[in-house]
Amino acid sequence: MEGAGRSACSQRPAHIFAVRLPVLHERPQNDGAGGIGQAGHRRGPTGLGARADDVEHFLRPAHDNSSPRWRSSYRLRGRCRNRRLSQNGELLEQALNPALEAVSAWMVTNGLSLAVHKTEAAVLTRKWSYSLPRLIIGGTNVRISEEIKYLGVVLDRRLTFNSHIARAAGAAIRTANAIGRIMPNVDGPSAAKRRLLGSVVCSKLLYAAPVWSGHSLDSERNRTRLNAPLRRTAIRIVRAYRTVSDEAALALAGVPPADLQARERARVRSIVWEPGATAADRRSRTAERIRTLEEWARRWTLTTKAEWTRRVIPDLSRWLGRTVNFQLSFHGSQAMTGHGCFKSFLHKMGRAADPWCEECQQAEDTVEHTLLDCPYWSEERSVLVAAVGDRHLEVGDLTQMVCGPALVDLPEDSTRRAKLLKEAQKQSDHFRDFVEKVLGHKEELERARQRR
Ligand SMILES: [Zn+2]
Repeated sequence: MEGAGRSACSQRPAHIFAVRLPVLHERPQNDGAGGIGQAGHRRGPTGLGARADDVEHFLRPAHDNSSPRWRSSYRLRGRCRNRRLSQNGELLEQALNPALEAVSAWMVTNGLSLAVHKTEAAVLTRKWSYSLPRLIIGGTNVRISEEIKYLGVVLDRRLTFNSHIARAAGAAIRTANAIGRIMPNVDGPSAAKRRLLGSVVCSKLLYAAPVWSGHSLDSERNRTRLNAPLRRTAIRIVRAYRTVSDEAALALAGVPPADLQARERARVRSIVWEPGATAADRRSRTAERIRTLEEWARRWTLTTKAEWTRRVIPDLSRWLGRTVNFQLSFHGSQAMTGHGCFKSFLHKMGRAADPWCEECQQAEDTVEHTLLDCPYWSEERSVLVAAVGDRHLEVGDLTQMVCGPALVDLPEDSTRRAKLLKEAQKQSDHFRDFVEKVLGHKEELERARQRR
């Protein structure tokens, strides 16, 4: 397993093996606490004298932070330095079995005994046809698994990491659900706290991403799996309906798709944490984030989902770097996604008999009709109309109100700049008030309609 963590995303080792060795009984040494672990977790313990020439191996504790006296399992990590030995299982077992016996003997010498029946091994190879080695410790066969968990990463035989991604996504979904329960759409924690809580899901999902984020992310299925928990969290962050697409939810929450984040972590890992990295290399973390955002913005222009959100936010980078403070409320998210108390949407969801506007009876009650056209809300809309010069409101005006002026359009003169931003913030606040008033009223009307 030596080197698998660093190199799996770029190049795959030809043949490596991993053996998990659970400890059955553990006795403290006479010389006090730590005697076992201190010897055991260092490379090449001296007690391991009979090591095979062709196999690198050494013991490491399963959890480095656990008490040395009470570690429950050790792992034998290794790789064949001799390519010839790794060509088939028979040659591999000839090299490995003496090493395993040596490990077992060393452990007995140090007051440990192995639970051989719990011991398992996995051969990592891309060969379709490979005769598995017969590994033996103390006369008992070691179970050869198709996959093995090592330091929290599931290694499957062909190093596809599909299994790891499925498990990580499943665990992250459970976390997203638990966090979602303390983040109701109405009231609940502030936007900043929601974002912080959401970051827990990201951390869980992207654990050890530099190891597995290579070819595994070329698979559409893996990308979808990874993005599902993030979508769920993003929906809670922006207080949106759960029918909102992952594209819209992630964009509104400002959370890049999981696969892009994973690739970014791998790039940063390869640049920043390599020995000899300079200060300039460490600054490249920002450059890699910019690269991620550019790719995300490119995807935003290509997707066919999130139709209304993309009309209001045609340029994702402008939304992410918005120059006004526009926080999404429950109603704000409805205005930005079109998923909310609009008859057209309710009709599509099977919650209304027809899509027609209850207020004016003239057209389909879509989000666009409500915000820009419906004559019933003319009075509430009048402040916004006055702000754009007493003309009909356009979708582009909404972009201006939620994103503020683009950075490139801001004047260099600080006084003029401050004045412009203040005016933009005022318009943004007017739009927020308009949305709260209109959508709040529509909800009341809808409840009354449902009671009839
Ligand atoms: Zn209407």
